[in-house]
Amino acid sequence: MFSRDTVTLIAGPCAIESREQIFEAARRVSELGISILRGGAFKPRTSPYSFQGLGEEGLDLLCEAAATYGLKTITEATDIDVLPLIHERCDIIQVGARNMDNYSLLKRIGALTADSKKWVMLKRGPAATIEEFLLAAEYILSSGNPNVLLCERGIRTFETATRYTLDLNAIPVLKRLSTLPVCVDVSHGTGHADMLIPMSRAAIAAGVDAVMVEAHPNPKKALCDGHQSLNLDHLGDWVEECRRFAALLGKELR
Ligand code: PEP
Ligand code: MN
Repeated sequence: MFSRDTVTLIAGPCAIESREQIFEAARRVSELGISILRGGAFKPRTSPYSFQGLGEEGLDLLCEAAATYGLKTITEATDIDVLPLIHERCDIIQVGARNMDNYSLLKRIGALTADSKKWVMLKRGPAATIEEFLLAAEYILSSGNPNVLLCERGIRTFETATRYTLDLNAIPVLKRLSTLPVCVDVSHGTGHADMLIPMSRAAIAAGVDAVMVEAHPNPKKALCDGHQSLNLDHLGDWVEECRRFAALLGKELR
């Protein structure tokens, strides 16, 4: 699913909100030749009063939309309770930034995927060092599943102009210290829709194997993270820019 001579694109809404929304996103994603559809069903929100996701109903919708358009799926396993369901239904299990150092969850994922070798996208905690990030990955790798995708999604710094500071340095450092594929999540890493294309270019130039972006049919009405989501009408521009920058490095999109 990930390789050194390709750049894999992942796109879809922050959260699955309705059948119409996820089907519209899936249709556009597939039309553009993107192979992986993202969407949160169980959402880890900072405020308990914010939309928490559609739960299992959202997962059903994600899987149905992906099956209709021949896409692979990624969604977050927020805790041990929902993990088996996501392991069974999705192609990639996402571990959220807030859970990077949830070692009991990581151990459980390791045990569950030791045989299935299902891909796990591990997001870097916003305050984790690269060493801590790589050691968190070891919890899964040491169980016997080699398929871990490392995801840089921005760290906390003193800077407040952006939601987080996308640590582009992490890309060559991770490449030096590990052979695992590296993804950059430009949506959480920046928090601003107008930065998604420039930072995708930068991430590809720095050597990532995958780029993830949030995309929504109507970002202004999104229940979650609309300000950092591409309108589906602009997703084609994003794909073309990613293709152009990947080509500079002799890589194809997948
Ligand atoms: C997400 O990808 O929807 C998400 C919640 O990201 P993070 O865990 O990086 O905050
Ligand atoms: Mn989000």
